[in-house]
Amino acid sequence: MNAEIIAVGTELLLGQIVNTNAQVLSRQLAELGVNVYFQTVVGDNAARIEEAVRLASSRADFVICTGGIGPTQDDITKDVLARMTGVRLVMHEPTLAAIRRYYEERKQPMPESNARQAALPEGADPLPNDNGMAVGAAWTWNGTRYIVLPGPPREMEPMFAKYAKPWIIRHLDDRRPLHSVMLRFGGIGESALEKEILDLIEQQKEVTIAPYAKEGEVTVRLTVRARNREEGQAMMKGTLEEIRRRVGRYLYAEEDISLEEAVVRLMAGRGLTLSAAESCTGGLFTELITSVPGSSRVLKGGIVAYTPELKHNLLQVPESVLSGPGTVSRECALAMADRMRRLSGSDMAVSITGVAGPDPSEGKPVGLVYIGLSDRNGEDVFECRFNGNRDGVRLRAAKHALYRVWQRIVQPDTERGAGGSR
Ligand code: ATP
Ligand code: MG
Repeated sequence: MNAEIIAVGTELLLGQIVNTNAQVLSRQLAELGVNVYFQTVVGDNAARIEEAVRLASSRADFVICTGGIGPTQDDITKDVLARMTGVRLVMHEPTLAAIRRYYEERKQPMPESNARQAALPEGADPLPNDNGMAVGAAWTWNGTRYIVLPGPPREMEPMFAKYAKPWIIRHLDDRRPLHSVMLRFGGIGESALEKEILDLIEQQKEVTIAPYAKEGEVTVRLTVRARNREEGQAMMKGTLEEIRRRVGRYLYAEEDISLEEAVVRLMAGRGLTLSAAESCTGGLFTELITSVPGSSRVLKGGIVAYTPELKHNLLQVPESVLSGPGTVSRECALAMADRMRRLSGSDMAVSITGVAGPDPSEGKPVGLVYIGLSDRNGEDVFECRFNGNRDGVRLRAAKHALYRVWQRIVQPDTERGAGGSR
C-alpha cells in the first residue's frame, strides 16, 4: 500500500510556513507500513490542485490532502476533490449544528461562509474536528482512497491520530493490526548498532526492523502484523532474542522510555542514590535526571565545577592532576567522582569532564570526554570520543554517563574503562 501527501496552501509555496504536516503524516504512515512515494505542495488554485490530485490518484492507493478546508474563499480543497470525484458537497449536520452553536453561545451572527466548513463530499465518512470547525472527510472513488484534513497542525494532528488513522487501517487490504515493540539503546551510536544487526535488517520479512537515532540514544522499532498481541509477540520472539544476544549490553529498555527514566526507575527500585560532578556538560546530566518525575528519590544533587580553581577548591582535585594530566583526563574524572561521592554521601557519583568545542582545550581534541564513576565497589573511568557540535557533544556525554550508570548497576561484570568512540 502506498500514499501520496498533497499539502495545499500558497503560504507553503511562498516559504512563509514550513510543511510540517507532510513530515508528521509521513512518519505516521511509515508506522502503519504505508509507503509514501511522493509529497506534493500546491497553491490555493483549483486547476493546479486538481492536476496534483489526478496525478496522485494515478499512482497512490491513498491520496491525503491537508489545508484549504476553512471558511474563506481560497479554501477550496473539498470543492475541487468533490467535483473531480463526481460527487456533490452536502452539509454534515452535526458539524453545522456545532458551528451554529459556537456563534449562538457568543451571541454573534454566523458569517454565512462558515457553513462551508461543514461541507462533506456526498457519501464520505466525516472525520470530526475536535479542535476546530472544519470537518475532515474520507472516501473511496475508483479504487483510490481520499482523505482531506485541515491545515492547522493543532487540528490536523489529532484528527489524523483519532479518526483518519483508524480509517486507513480499516481500508488497508491486510486488516491485521500492527504490533510494535520499542527497543531503546544507550552507549552505542546508530551506525555501530546498525552494523551489528544489518543482516537482520536486510533479511527482514514479517518482522520490520527500523532503527532511529535521537539525541544520544538509538531506538529500534520491531513491527509485525498480527491478529492479537500474543501472536505478535510470538512472531517477534526469534528476532528479539537474536538482537538481545548481539547487542543486549546496550539495550536498556524494551519499551519507549528515555535513558534518564530508566536510570531513575532502576535506582529508585533498588533504593540507590546518585550525585554528579560536571564540567563540560554544565549541569546537563543533573538536568536530565531531574526532568524525570520522582527523581528526588534518587538524586542527591550535583556540582558544576567549570574552572580548574573550582575543581580544586570544591572537589579537591589535586594541583598535581591539574598541572599534570590536566582537567580533561582520567585522573581528574576519577578525583571528581570520588570526591563527589564522599561529599554527598550518595551510593554512586558520576563525573563528566571533556572538550565540548568548538575549539580544542589544553591541547585535547574536541569531543574527548572522560566519564568517571564511583561507588562502594570502587571507581571506574571511561574515555570517550563524541562526534557533533558543542551541543551534540554535551548531550552525548550526558547520555553516555547515564548509560554507564545503568550498566554499572545492571551488568556490574562487563568491560571496565574501555570507553568507546561514537
Ligand atoms: P483554516 O480554517 O485555518 O483556514 P484550513 O484547513 O483552510 O484552515 P489553511 O487555510 O490552508 O488550512 O491553513 C491554515 C494555517 O494552517 C496556515 O496558515 C498554517 O499556519 C497552517 N498550515 C497549513 N498547511 C500546513 C502544512 N502543510 N504544514 C504546517 N502548517 C500548515
Ligand atoms: Mg484556510
